[in-house]
Amino acid sequence: MLHIPSYTYQFKGYEVTILRLEQAFPDVQGNKYFKLKYNLQEAREQQHDTLLTFGGAFSNYIHATAIAGKQFGFKTIGIIRGEDDPQNPTLQFAREQGMQLHFVSRELFKSMRTHNPVQEAFTAKYGRCYVMPEGGSNNFAVTGCSEILEGIADTYDYVITAVGTGGTLAGIIETPGLTAKVIGLPVLRINEQLEQTIRGLITAENKTEWTLFYDYHFGGYAKYSADVLKFIAQFNQRHQILLDPIYTGKMMLGAIDLMVKEKLKPQSKVLCIHTGGLQGWEGWNYRFKENSTDNQ
Ligand SMILES: *Cc1c(COP(=O)(O)O)cnc(C)c1O
Repeated sequence: MLHIPSYTYQFKGYEVTILRLEQAFPDVQGNKYFKLKYNLQEAREQQHDTLLTFGGAFSNYIHATAIAGKQFGFKTIGIIRGEDDPQNPTLQFAREQGMQLHFVSRELFKSMRTHNPVQEAFTAKYGRCYVMPEGGSNNFAVTGCSEILEGIADTYDYVITAVGTGGTLAGIIETPGLTAKVIGLPVLRINEQLEQTIRGLITAENKTEWTLFYDYHFGGYAKYSADVLKFIAQFNQRHQILLDPIYTGKMMLGAIDLMVKEKLKPQSKVLCIHTGGLQGWEGWNYRFKENSTDNQ
């Protein structure tokens, strides 16, 4: 069994544990290891030599696919939203791993999200590729993420995780033998299809109780929030755990708020998943280096 480090502390009568995927998987970071695991296996079984996926210019999934591809001997192609920026640290990293980048307009990117034929026409250009959706949330990702809590499925009352595209949450919900209630905290301000997407990724007979709290996006995806940044600094000082500004900072701040407001059963055991994403700091510092003071 895989051993993932964790850290436990007491907070207002709750026992809080942080599951530290960011320490266990520092290369293919955090939850992305689990999202990619069975996709890579499937790609190999289907005798693919190239992985292709989609993402924003600072995407953790692009970063993860690039390094996983390199480590496991696949060529990689990233279809990136917007224009090239050679200074962007995530894109630089992806290129260093050998990822071939192709930039598409925001409009086209958006239409590919909802309109598969456009995506197919586009990917056809690259010949035979193993295609993973933006953020990688397909059924193989869910199977991988259903292993995150292996060995600890019956230990906690609540499991809390940040939600982007929903694959990780779906995998947590699918954990065999899970006894905890699952709480997802979306980091996007608007994502109308989210619940439906998650429902589509879990099996019909699944009995896990799960819910989403929508109040912890702090302005929206990858938006600058002085509150989140201040919290991350304090949390790091107190616990020596660095959170990321896009997912886990918001997740942890949200989790604490739920406990302060007693929306979770008093005295319960709460597992918060540190899903990684620390590569995002470089892109974050790059994006906000000039105007960080204006944004505060
Ligand atoms: C990608 C990512 C998530 C979101 O995962 P989804 O499966 O897209 O919901 C959460 N946390 C971190 C750190 C991530 O990089």
